[in-house]
Amino acid sequence: MANDKIAYSSPIGDEVAYTTCYMCACRCGIKVHLKDGKLRYIEGNRDHPVNRGVLCGKGSAGIMTAISPARLRKPLKRVGPRGAGEFIEIEWDEAMTVVTDRLARIRATDPHKFALFTGRDQSQSLTGHFARMFGTMNFAAHGGFCSVNMAAGGLYSVGGAFWEFGEPDWDHAKLFLLFGVAEDHDSNPIKLGLATLKSRGAKIVSINPIRTGYSAIADEFVAITPGTDGLFVMALIHCLLESGSVDTEFLIRYTNAHYLVIDAPGDADNGLFARDEAGRVLAFDRGAQELVDAAALGIDPALLGSFTLADGRTARPAFAILAERYSNASYSPEAVAARCGVAAADIRRIAGEIAEVAFNQAISLDQQWTDTAGRTHPTMTGRPVAMHAMRGISAHSNGFHTCRAIHVLQMLIGAVDTPGSWRYKSPYPKPIPAGPGPGGAVHDADGSLTATVLGFPSGPEDLLVDDDGEALRLDHAFSWEAPLGIHGLMHMAIAEAHAGGPERIDTLFLYMSNMAWNSAMNPGETTRMLADHDGAGNYRIPFVIYADAFASETVAYADLVLPDTTYLERYDCISLLDRPIGSAHGPADAIRVPVLKPDRDVRPFQDVLIDLAGRLGLPHFVDAEGRKLYDSYADYMVNHQRKPGVGPLAGFRGADGTAIGKGAPNPDQLQRYVENKGFWRHHLPAEQLYYKHANRAYLAGAKEMGLIDSDAQIVLHLYSEILQKFRLAAEGHGSRVPPERLRAQVRTVMDPLPIWYPPVEETMTDLQRFPLHAITQRPMAMYHSWGSQNAWLRQILSENRLYLHRDLAARHDLVDDDWIEVESRNGRVKCQARVMEGVNPNTVWTWNAIGKRTGAWALANDAPEARRGFLLNHIISEYLPADGAGHRASNSDPVTGQAAWFDLTVRIEKCAPDTLEETQPMMPPSAYSPKAAAE
Ligand code: SF4
Repeated sequence: MANDKIAYSSPIGDEVAYTTCYMCACRCGIKVHLKDGKLRYIEGNRDHPVNRGVLCGKGSAGIMTAISPARLRKPLKRVGPRGAGEFIEIEWDEAMTVVTDRLARIRATDPHKFALFTGRDQSQSLTGHFARMFGTMNFAAHGGFCSVNMAAGGLYSVGGAFWEFGEPDWDHAKLFLLFGVAEDHDSNPIKLGLATLKSRGAKIVSINPIRTGYSAIADEFVAITPGTDGLFVMALIHCLLESGSVDTEFLIRYTNAHYLVIDAPGDADNGLFARDEAGRVLAFDRGAQELVDAAALGIDPALLGSFTLADGRTARPAFAILAERYSNASYSPEAVAARCGVAAADIRRIAGEIAEVAFNQAISLDQQWTDTAGRTHPTMTGRPVAMHAMRGISAHSNGFHTCRAIHVLQMLIGAVDTPGSWRYKSPYPKPIPAGPGPGGAVHDADGSLTATVLGFPSGPEDLLVDDDGEALRLDHAFSWEAPLGIHGLMHMAIAEAHAGGPERIDTLFLYMSNMAWNSAMNPGETTRMLADHDGAGNYRIPFVIYADAFASETVAYADLVLPDTTYLERYDCISLLDRPIGSAHGPADAIRVPVLKPDRDVRPFQDVLIDLAGRLGLPHFVDAEGRKLYDSYADYMVNHQRKPGVGPLAGFRGADGTAIGKGAPNPDQLQRYVENKGFWRHHLPAEQLYYKHANRAYLAGAKEMGLIDSDAQIVLHLYSEILQKFRLAAEGHGSRVPPERLRAQVRTVMDPLPIWYPPVEETMTDLQRFPLHAITQRPMAMYHSWGSQNAWLRQILSENRLYLHRDLAARHDLVDDDWIEVESRNGRVKCQARVMEGVNPNTVWTWNAIGKRTGAWALANDAPEARRGFLLNHIISEYLPADGAGHRASNSDPVTGQAAWFDLTVRIEKCAPDTLEETQPMMPPSAYSPKAAAE
């Protein structure tokens, strides 16, 4: 019965604003309710393409982030030793003068002595452009220690990748394989997608050492051994080849499977594609029995065999080389089962299920489309096997090849951007490689770099190395140590700046990345290096600037702190030039708007960077007379043009706001976004929704919108000729060859087909002594370290345990909450145990970034995060053990430089009953607390 005394729909506030969440990286749309200018309630924006109204616990807790006691309040200047946290508050004028004078001097002498590294920054199109215009090659963001293997593996194989680059076809997939995905990446979209799959009865298989989050609702959980996913996938490929379950039509039409590969060991072009005099790649036509242009229409190219070239040498189709490799018994399920921790029968069954769904349950949509060759197809046919992968497979030193192996598997069964499979999110696909090589080697007359800092190498000629083949960049990205380091190696920045001293780097500018704590591979070593002096008493890293909204552990190690706003107090831009929010249904972007006025003397970092660029007179930020072009980030978002007509926001362009993608700046653009609830999106017509890599209408439309420069077919790289070029250099061919110490490594890892090798650190560790794998997971309620200043989220999670399998616990006589020591080759941590079943029996794990330094984040010295929380990072190292010659390589994937967080192996030991009930190591409290400063 209705109760007329209860007002069911009373307004929560007197004002509503639409903006974009930033409590994690997913960029959901939110509706913020305010009363008397104060934040009352946050709910999901039901119209937003990312979350369709869904809001997670973190998103709703944004209200407590906006009033967090850990917010920085004013610029700070260090007055005590680095690390002590002794600061005085200064005015912005002084802070900006210090930074401008310092950077102007560096730019005039050696701009590469300025290094800018940003964390989970969503304004990389601005920060990267600033670095390029400044003229420093030493710029990177978070990707190098998160998931560059996933990005590079995909971009160099299919011109797209998982997460921000692609998504499963949730509406049509019948079988879904989920590899190594934690709960924080693409959080709400995946939850929505999994719900769709479940409601449709699709089967979900989770391949993950740990059954948490998404894996908990999977129909099948494969508790794989960390670092062996690539081997598992190659065994699946072995089975598919064995049963002939390969989509040859897809391979020939859309990949380079039929391209002939020169088979002439020792020659300078061995392993490259055979070409005719006009430079066209050759195939062998089975009908005409002759060599033909591989791109010609109407040919019947061979996928197997060996053929004689005009010069008398032989060549084989790329597919033939692939088939020979993975048909080998060493990739059989029986050969890999023990290593992967997965029964051979299960691998064979899963391969059988993939083949059954792909080839016997193919789906066909009644939709005509035309391919780039001009063939019109009456329907869109697809193999409804979808795959998704993320950080779990990425964070290994063999992760690049694992990611590539998954994409090769997709290509073999014809499951790339077809109905039911994995699909590109706009603006992907991109050509392979996705752009020109990295900038850094050459400056223009105005001091800017001639190319974007984080570019895409297509061969050794694009590397940033000196005459001896050694790295030019601080972090060694784009060197022979990480040729495809397309996101940089942020985890090496402090270590290398310390090693090189002032001759290498003068000023290290960090933004929004807790590099001295959970974003360091080893916080103890990193903080030591930040505070280390040379013989004359000067810091080895002369000057450290840190910009952040909160008093993280890194604040104490800065010489100058620039306080940022929270995400609810500034404009921001979720740009197609950066990390877009497009979907398989079309491109999209969004903005943040200030819904609160800062109650502190803080400034949006992006405004500060634009101000700084103007003060420094950087090209593209000042006019010919040296006057500032932009007075704020909001101004830049509307008026900056990267190319004619292409700016940070793609929606509502042109004088009247009707142009999309390309168009003149629209002075009312931000207002149009506000009226549209904070976002813009474009729905692709039905004929453009699939086969985007070869869909004539899609590619033409994408070119018109400025998403790509060419509307030519994007041929998928089953075989990577780009990788082979690096390999040839390692064999001594060409003018650029790796230093002797790296030749064997480059030759091995730049294999044109996916390979599997044991995680590198494991091969240098005594596995008898450290037999257990140790990894981290992300809880749904926290994002990196961000949630530890949030009163609501702290109630969900403020301490962490080391989780281990019940059988392993029994062997060590452990029960829940027992204190244990976890030891690796790098050191020890002390923590408490938690027993469970859903974990690989030889793997221990914990939640990431819960442990905190006492006093940081405005936490009390006895806060559970400090006393009962711990970081596994304390026993990881950014360096591998020294080789025979004393050289210490970075603990990274040797192709991309991805931090190999998950290669760690450990042993555990129960503590004595009288042990102090407190996690270790425990650092002394930081003296600085914004809470105390405010009081
Ligand atoms: S998933 Fe991330 S972006 Fe979306 S509501 Fe949650 S915290 Fe915000």
